[in-house]
Amino acid sequence: MFYDVVIVGAGPAGSTAAKILSEKGIRTLLLEKTTFPRDKPCGGGLQMRVLHRFKYLEENNLIDSYSTTFQIHTSTMTHHIDFHHTKPLQAMVLRKSFDAGLVNLATRSGAVLQCGNTVQDMTNQKHNIRLILSDGTTVESQLIIGADGTWSTIAKKIGMKQECNHIGISVYTEYPIGQETIHKLYGHERGVHIHLQPNGLAGYGWVFPKKEHVNIGVVEFRQAVNPSMEKKNLQTSFTYYLQTLKKQKLLPTRLPKTATHGGAFPTCQMKRLTADRVMLCGDAAGLTNPMTGEGIYYAMCSGEMAAEIAIKALENNATDVQSLRRYQRRWNHEFRGDFTLMNRLSKRWGRNVDRLIEIACKDKKLIDVICEAIPKPGGVQKDKWKIIPRFVFAYCKNRFKQ
Ligand SMILES: Cc1cc2nc3c(=O)[nH]c(=O)nc-3n(C[C@H](O)[C@H](O)[C@H](O)COP(=O)(O)OP(=O)(O)OC[C@H]3O[C@@H](n4cnc5c(N)ncnc54)[C@H](O)[C@@H]3O)c2cc1C
Repeated sequence: MFYDVVIVGAGPAGSTAAKILSEKGIRTLLLEKTTFPRDKPCGGGLQMRVLHRFKYLEENNLIDSYSTTFQIHTSTMTHHIDFHHTKPLQAMVLRKSFDAGLVNLATRSGAVLQCGNTVQDMTNQKHNIRLILSDGTTVESQLIIGADGTWSTIAKKIGMKQECNHIGISVYTEYPIGQETIHKLYGHERGVHIHLQPNGLAGYGWVFPKKEHVNIGVVEFRQAVNPSMEKKNLQTSFTYYLQTLKKQKLLPTRLPKTATHGGAFPTCQMKRLTADRVMLCGDAAGLTNPMTGEGIYYAMCSGEMAAEIAIKALENNATDVQSLRRYQRRWNHEFRGDFTLMNRLSKRWGRNVDRLIEIACKDKKLIDVICEAIPKPGGVQKDKWKIIPRFVFAYCKNRFKQ
């Protein structure tokens, strides 16, 4: 079977690209190795800018809940920053229904979905590109969008690979604790909690209350781990975190038996996002925030950009690497600056980050500036040049007082 575009991987990046392409009448195949509905290791937290950019998420009821308060705690839990707003500061999704919903939107627009088949190989031919699937069949198309996640087969086929010292590794669980318990523990605001460096990890712990679930996890950023630091076992750190949360009354003492999962995400953008007839999106391209692990927004944005470039490439019959490089240029123009800054900051996870919270929580103006930025369409990233100078001011004020 011949398609204009074949997308490998039906996560947020692949489904977003498939929706846009098929809405334009492009013959699109979405290939996925699992079957839906399926879960995906994730906290399921979305910054509000995702909903501003992709308005159809709320219109199609893909959001599970909203949180209007957000606290960031030091590792010692002696200080915290408190963000309160009348507007939501974070949206929450359940990946099982969110990803299935996105796939559904793509197929409703006309994309063909083929599940339960893994792409194993890719060969570039003179006039098209061929994929070989695990059941032995092949598909051909003019263009391939590789949206097959952190350990992407398509990225490897174009000579790109995720490096193991540039990943975030995580252990997490999503507990179904019911709406009543959610309100009791986190209020009607469904307050989000972030704890820096639990058990000394070069990373953070999160508590994401949803409508009837709470998603709890810890993450370590490998790029921030100093070789001289004591090696931490992630599962032990997660157990320690659960115990701490119970003591803080942020978790019921008796929890439903729920499996604990592990997951990884990339923290370094691939050098090349394109090759002849190929574009990489989302985690496959390393497009995750290296400081926080936020990836859904970047997956959807890169899927959107790749689809728009694919439409132009097919119109002009120009699918070579030179023509597709416009995708990488567009990505870099919008996001590269933020990623470079975040990459630098992410190295701080291995140092004493408590100090930053201790300084920030004393400066009300700084907290107000951040809090006002969070619900805006551009989020904190857009207002970073208001936030960073104010932080520097708070830092100097603090030094001067000492
Ligand atoms: C523990 C954890 C917590 C996270 N928390 C958050 C969070 O709170 N908020 C946030 O924004 N981001 C979070 N992220 C990151 C986020 O999950 C990812 O960035 C996002 O899912 C990337 O989307 P994607 O479409 O690029 O890839 P994925 O969602 O990974 O989708 C890739 C798809 O490709 C399929 N696939 C893979 N290989 C093949 C193949 N060879 N053939 C066919 N199909 C294939 C997979 O089955 C999968 O369905 C978290 C990540 C982890 C690991």
